[in-house]
Amino acid sequence: MSSSPLPPPTLRLGFDAEALAANWRALDLLSGKAAAGAAVKADAYGVGAARVVPVLAAAGCRMFFVAHWREVPALLPHVAPESIAVLHGPASAEEVAYARATGVWPVINSVAQARAWSAGGGGTCHLMVDTGMNRLGVSLEDLGDPAIAALEIDICLSHLASADEDVSQNEAQRRAFVSVQGAVRARRYSLANSAGIALGSAYHADLTRPGLALYGGIARAELAGQIRQVVHPEAVLLQVRKLKAGDKVGYNALFTAAGDMRVGVLSLGYADGYLRCWSGIGSFRWQGRKAPVLGRVSMDLTIVDLGEMPDCGEGEWLTADYDLPCAAAASGLSQYELLTLMGQRFGR
Ligand SMILES: *Cc1c(COP(=O)(O)O)cnc(C)c1O
Repeated sequence: MSSSPLPPPTLRLGFDAEALAANWRALDLLSGKAAAGAAVKADAYGVGAARVVPVLAAAGCRMFFVAHWREVPALLPHVAPESIAVLHGPASAEEVAYARATGVWPVINSVAQARAWSAGGGGTCHLMVDTGMNRLGVSLEDLGDPAIAALEIDICLSHLASADEDVSQNEAQRRAFVSVQGAVRARRYSLANSAGIALGSAYHADLTRPGLALYGGIARAELAGQIRQVVHPEAVLLQVRKLKAGDKVGYNALFTAAGDMRVGVLSLGYADGYLRCWSGIGSFRWQGRKAPVLGRVSMDLTIVDLGEMPDCGEGEWLTADYDLPCAAAASGLSQYELLTLMGQRFGR
């Protein structure tokens, strides 16, 4: 058997490292006296933890949040274990053992997790307190439990449910968090996600935890103009075809040519996260010119109108129009989903 190298991908997630670093610096500045950390769970929101984490570390970020223990190995080559926090916490003896072996500190979410952590030898950890979202976290009533009181806590955190909206829940959670700060002894406190940073200094505490905004998402209108786009989905033009009036395009023939036209078939489809919602409304760019999506997006392929780019041939790379706030408005998807949908076939 020959050992030919695997050919390069025909779709890639273009990545602007400078924009990522600039977004982190902007969010750190907006966090005032608090330092900004970074949520890098779900492979850094689909952007790729292996390339995101070194850029953030070089920019000055010192705290990284993942959700799963199995996300830790992607970070360990790049940052110190004590700068990694695992949000789901230690739920089993294997997870406690893994935390202790790697030196990564868990986020304790319940009295049961606090007991499991201490039983496994304990040591520094973080504590998530629920202030009204009823997702993960120790409830306010349980804060006095001896298992919680015995913990050695670095970050005491809580999470805002509705920071992207102007609703009274934000102030209610802020007040609850002030009471948590009185009840839980920790080295530092943390409440705000991306949108929470824009709510102002009363929400900043000691450490903020932006995710979405690092990667170009506009979590609240206040952040527009301060945040740059970081990723650009790109796909190779696999085939160019000439159509005549009446020719139909794609599944269910949703598009019919009105006259002669030149169309292109791109190596990108809904299996890659370029969902069928872009059928007939999405568009791509090549050298500043626009190629609208024609008909239905397929699993692996998308057909575009090359009318504005007669010189664009097979093998060229086209870039999807995927500016997150605009793409969210056009598609009905959230900016979070638009990022995390990007599939495994993308070169990262
Ligand atoms: C995902 C997450 C964040 C980041 O939230 P964004 O809205 O993406 O900024 C912060 N904290 C916790 C606990 C999270 O789960």
